[in-house]
Amino acid sequence: MVVLRAHPDLAGKLALAGELTADSSAEQAGAGLDRCTAEEFARFQELNDAYQAKFGFPFIIAVRGLDRHDILRAFEKRVGNTPDQEFQTALGQVERIALLRLYQITGQPQHDLGQALMDRLEEFATFTAEPGVLTRLFLTKEHKAAAERLIAWMAEAGMTGRIDAAGNVVGRYEGDRPGLPALLIGSHIDTVRNAGKYDGNFGVLAGVAAVAELNRRAERLPFAIEVIGFGDEEGVRFPVTLTGSRAIAGTFDGAALGVADADGIGYADALRAFGGDPDAIATAARRPEEVLAYVELHIEQGPVLEAEDLGVGVVTGINGASRFIVRVGGSANHAGTVPMKLRRDALAGAAEMVLAVERRGLEGTDLVATVGRIEALPGAVNVIPGSAVFTIDLRSPDDAARRASSAAILGDLEAIAGRRGLTVNVEQSHDAPATLCAPGLIAQLSEAVGRCGVQPRKLPSGAGHDAMAVAGLCPVGMLFTRCREGISHNPAEAITVEDADLSMRVLLDFIRHFDPTALGH
Ligand SMILES: [Zn+2]
Repeated sequence: MVVLRAHPDLAGKLALAGELTADSSAEQAGAGLDRCTAEEFARFQELNDAYQAKFGFPFIIAVRGLDRHDILRAFEKRVGNTPDQEFQTALGQVERIALLRLYQITGQPQHDLGQALMDRLEEFATFTAEPGVLTRLFLTKEHKAAAERLIAWMAEAGMTGRIDAAGNVVGRYEGDRPGLPALLIGSHIDTVRNAGKYDGNFGVLAGVAAVAELNRRAERLPFAIEVIGFGDEEGVRFPVTLTGSRAIAGTFDGAALGVADADGIGYADALRAFGGDPDAIATAARRPEEVLAYVELHIEQGPVLEAEDLGVGVVTGINGASRFIVRVGGSANHAGTVPMKLRRDALAGAAEMVLAVERRGLEGTDLVATVGRIEALPGAVNVIPGSAVFTIDLRSPDDAARRASSAAILGDLEAIAGRRGLTVNVEQSHDAPATLCAPGLIAQLSEAVGRCGVQPRKLPSGAGHDAMAVAGLCPVGMLFTRCREGISHNPAEAITVEDADLSMRVLLDFIRHFDPTALGH
């Protein structure tokens, strides 16, 4: 109490009289407290008096990163706390101020949020099927143990956590009054076999850490926050995927309940054992009016941010994809007897087609085109290939661009086949539309990135995410965090403490400035 009572008032009489220590006045000036209007000064005096009278010590807050409006808002909230709550909050603030001063003295970088998140990710990686390797498949006992730890961390962060009927972990932090519509923050907590620690888990634990930070500062917002750990994004155990996020969006396909894993264990039985309820999946669905938007933080799983030396990037959309199987027919014949000009070589034609696909891929800015497999028949060293089969995978965040490119490629293939006397048959094996991130969320995330001192780089996602399913419910936005060499689905997956810290600061800044009215939901 002696230490607490020694703290100067914010925007108080000492500040007005110029009698603060150099550190205190620099801090107060940094938050703009020296530029208060007369009304704001008066409001601070009123609050200072009310606070002193109620708690017996002055209001203390680490002002770094806050402006005077944030401070006034926190002040007005905290003056309503019980003496016990407020004593704890004040001690937490003293701790933060002390840490910030120590960092200033020692020159140590201030990555406490990022470091805490990295520590949690390490601990979370111990929920695995085999020690030393991270494998956490959907609805396994290690998934259950991870869910229980997540719920405990949610409780610590001031949330009420639960497992919904579809096996998602859902934690709720009320807004400035109970029952308000929620900003959803989530990703998945299932992994592939021999996974990295960050894919999915990063976005979930970042959400919990952001709420913990709000709760520690007694910040309540004009909306609720729900953090969701989806269960079935990777689709490794059962021949289905995104069932958790589809359940939330109300688009769960009941056929999933009938599938089984490689050991013959049924989806429905596994879900029941996990604590979900296959007969009540519909109860997991959220109504559009109870949610405002969905935001997912995820590692990039690609090399763009690293190549551009950026810690984070704002996702514009998740690529739509087309896949084709192309069959080229020629004439198989003796490799020694048929002159070059009389041949109909299916593989040579396919090779020219592969290069045409690559050329089309290079034409669009965000378009990627890949031939990943090719086969020649009969496949003998001394036989001219009579047929060739290859695949095309085409992705873009822009469906119209992808369709135009598909059409152009098909035209190229026919022209090449015609010139070479070959037949070509194209079968489309897959067609999924792009998921667009909401322009309002792209804008608000970009502003948050900019306020954290980073050039907002917008980029599409080449990989699928839970956000694709949640887009059926509400506007979605995503923030990518740089990962080393773009590697994922691999134990070598890595991010830095600095980037984790930056991501946390962007997320918190986004939450604090979040304006649901600008989304048109
Ligand atoms: Zn993922």
